[in-house]
Amino acid sequence: PPPNYLSAKPTVPSHLPDGTMNYEGFFRQQLHDLHMQGNYRVFCDLERQAGNFPRATHFNGRVQSTVTVWCSNDYLGMGQHPCVLAAMREAVDRCGAGAGGTRNISGTTHYHVLLERELADLHNKEAALLFTSGYVSNWAALGTLASRLPGCVVLSDEGNHASMIEGIRHSRAEKQIWQHNDPEDLNRRLAALDPGRPKLVAFESVYSMDGDIAPIAELCDVADGHGAMTYLDEVHAVGLYGARGGGIAEREGLSHRLTVIEGTLAKGFGVVGGYITGSMALCDFVRSFSSGFIFTSALPPSVAAAALASIRHLKTSASERQHHQAVVASLRKRLDAAGLPHMANPSHIVPLMVGDPVLCKRVSDVLLSDYGIYVQPINYPTVPPGTERLRITPSPLHTAQDIDHLVQALSAIWSELRLKRAA
Ligand code: PMP
Repeated sequence: PPPNYLSAKPTVPSHLPDGTMNYEGFFRQQLHDLHMQGNYRVFCDLERQAGNFPRATHFNGRVQSTVTVWCSNDYLGMGQHPCVLAAMREAVDRCGAGAGGTRNISGTTHYHVLLERELADLHNKEAALLFTSGYVSNWAALGTLASRLPGCVVLSDEGNHASMIEGIRHSRAEKQIWQHNDPEDLNRRLAALDPGRPKLVAFESVYSMDGDIAPIAELCDVADGHGAMTYLDEVHAVGLYGARGGGIAEREGLSHRLTVIEGTLAKGFGVVGGYITGSMALCDFVRSFSSGFIFTSALPPSVAAAALASIRHLKTSASERQHHQAVVASLRKRLDAAGLPHMANPSHIVPLMVGDPVLCKRVSDVLLSDYGIYVQPINYPTVPPGTERLRITPSPLHTAQDIDHLVQALSAIWSELRLKRAA
């Protein structure tokens, strides 16, 4: 049910009768409009069950129940892996809770140093730089590079994540948006620019909502042809692809062709934090000039220790990656057999298309209330209107029974709500 305070449309004079600004009225009006469009976000109150991935306890008022989570970005379940939890506990015992400061002022612990070395090695780069999240790493690194290189033009894929868009916007550099995954459009745009200007081409490897993968080699060829730097967001690929979990660039032998590879510690690695990797000079430059790096407290040492354990584990263990891909393939096959319209793509992200915000939320609500399955609806502005979907993310720890249960539940809901099946 919607929160009560949003159900009645507020009347919003911009001023209250006493002449003061009606700030509350403005907030409520905006929220009410979101709610009416079906785009108001309701969070699912969950407690993940340690060691029992993908189960979580769902708190629904006074009622608690165990649910199966099918939309976690802890793609490999590493957030519950014994080696990660042990490393985190040990670091808490050794160092306590917080880092105690910014990286510059007392907040750099030996775990941070080791983690940056490990990340540089993972991507075959000279150096790495940690941030408090993947969002901050994109925002800060792109913002710094683009604003500090005089006359820089940023060429950004139209599907890029909000953190990249905001970083580029923040830099105030000139920007060009090129058509998604289209090297020819990128080439045309680069060719039209003054060859003497610095250029930065920014894109992702695996796109989070459609699960499609960039033609990295072609994009690097184009960028090289025009002397542009390349910035690759591998947030949805690190840990999951490549012989050591170094992402799509590693899998395709292309790490050396990217100026910057950016990633997160919060998805495949199951912890939290973000980073960039690149040359020694580039990382040192961002470290030295980026306010998003300098003026914020360092990640807790326990987080750095946990991420370090996760990365080290996935560097040598391919079984999580293999099992993950097997579960993805198995789920897709079952969805096909049931005529459930999932978007085809070459990655681990399984978008199940609904195409309407209210129905999308309804499917998600019924899955949770009637079947104990949690998949968050994805609506505008995360995806374009008309492409609302359930973004299903299988993990190596979902069982064959979990898949049966999910597909049966979806099939029943599809019939009940008369949703369109795949041809
Ligand atoms: N880049 C992309 C492509 C993302 O999808 C996200 C978040 N989902 C981020 C960066 C931000 O990463 P983080 O969650 O670590 O802040």
